[in-house]
Amino acid sequence: MQGPTINSHRPPTSDHVHGDVPLGTAFDFLNTLELDDGALVERLSSLETAATWLARAAVVPDAASITGLARSDADREALLDRLVATRTALRDVAHAVAHERTPERQAIDEVNRALRSRERVELVAADDGVRLGHSHVGDAVDDVLARIAEPIVREIGSGHDDRVRVCANDTCRWIFYDESRSGRRRWCDMATCGNRAKARRHRERQKTADEPGDSRP
Ligand SMILES: [Zn+2]
Repeated sequence: MQGPTINSHRPPTSDHVHGDVPLGTAFDFLNTLELDDGALVERLSSLETAATWLARAAVVPDAASITGLARSDADREALLDRLVATRTALRDVAHAVAHERTPERQAIDEVNRALRSRERVELVAADDGVRLGHSHVGDAVDDVLARIAEPIVREIGSGHDDRVRVCANDTCRWIFYDESRSGRRRWCDMATCGNRAKARRHRERQKTADEPGDSRP
């Protein structure tokens, strides 16, 4: 449901509100469904938590710019469904790309639907010339999803799809964009998952070395 007064309480457009979403933040959004030591955790469990996440990530100026769109429980559910649907589609696309598969048609369609809501810049006449204005296609959720989808689509659609990775730690599976020079990063973070893997390999080597009959190094 979309009432006519939806945008009336919003602050004047500013670059902070409408700026591009950094690629890292966009990937963080994909990981709002995450494995925490092997257990699946949903970070977008309600519209309120989703809005708070988006505000903390500086994608929206405050949580109210999202929660304020809802007038009823049904609205809240519908808005959350839209956020989750696009996130799911972006995850599907990222997983497919990371594993060199063709994504499901449905996922591509959903991402493209989100992209179409990207607000457009436009010229607005001013006393001393012109200024930059914005035209909205949808509501604030449409805008958020379009701005999150765009940097991901730009990277993976322009030859950098081999940089999309899923953390090699099976209890993590964090989706990330490998910005390393070598382009061979396997873990979301060397300090956590990378070291855990190294420590496990080290323990396994120790065990083998400690077995009877094995010569000491
Ligand atoms: Zn990891």
